[in-house]
Amino acid sequence: MRRPAIAGNWKMYKTRAETLAFFRTFLPLIEGTKHCDIVVAPPFTAICAAVEAVRGTKVAVSGQDLHWQAEGAFTGEVSGKMLAESGCTYVIVGHSERRQYFGETDESVQRKTKAALESNLTPIVCVGESLAEREANQTEAVLKRQFECGLGALTAEEFSRILIAYEPVWAIGTGRTATPEIAAEAHRYIRGLAAAHFTHEQASVLRILYGGSVKPDNIKGLMAQAEIDGALVGGASLDAKSFAEIVNY
Ligand code: PEP
Repeated sequence: MRRPAIAGNWKMYKTRAETLAFFRTFLPLIEGTKHCDIVVAPPFTAICAAVEAVRGTKVAVSGQDLHWQAEGAFTGEVSGKMLAESGCTYVIVGHSERRQYFGETDESVQRKTKAALESNLTPIVCVGESLAEREANQTEAVLKRQFECGLGALTAEEFSRILIAYEPVWAIGTGRTATPEIAAEAHRYIRGLAAAHFTHEQASVLRILYGGSVKPDNIKGLMAQAEIDGALVGGASLDAKSFAEIVNY
């Protein structure tokens, strides 16, 4: 049985003060929640405030990106070691916005995933096709390339410590969610890739989250699919009540 995980990606939203206000409302709403892992990914500047706010609770804090080196002359970058020292236990890798706007490639995803694991962070590795790729029947080819180039070089032990988020780019921030069936089909395909590269046993315990316009009113349908092990939530994670509703689906 795979334990569900619900992660909120705040992108470039929320100051430290807004982060503290979020947790003041959010934490009491999920106090009794036991059925899933809960993760919040604030921007770098609010990580320490978030870590302080969630201390002693079951909420984990995640980075939204990292550099693959532990340190160096890389202006503007933050390493896995720095995230871990700040109290993060997860990090998002290869989000489609990083791929689209900041030149993230499958190769950098691989290096960042390895670096995250070296710092004992749990990487949430994002994969997913664009609308043009889906319409050109390229979904499986894109997922295969992203999986093989981004994750194929991991050792079995490393692979056992990652989460994958399937995030069709056409569903991110658009209000257009993949139907539960479309999402489950992609998850099945990704699990098949994992079985082919690693083992059936490893594939069967791999947690695959769905991301793309997840809201309180569609989370139940998504989570009813046996293939969907949780959600990576953007917009709806910014509001404490709506994120708590999603967590408490
Ligand atoms: C995301 O940022 O990973 C995401 C899925 O965003 P949204 O929920 O807003 O579509």
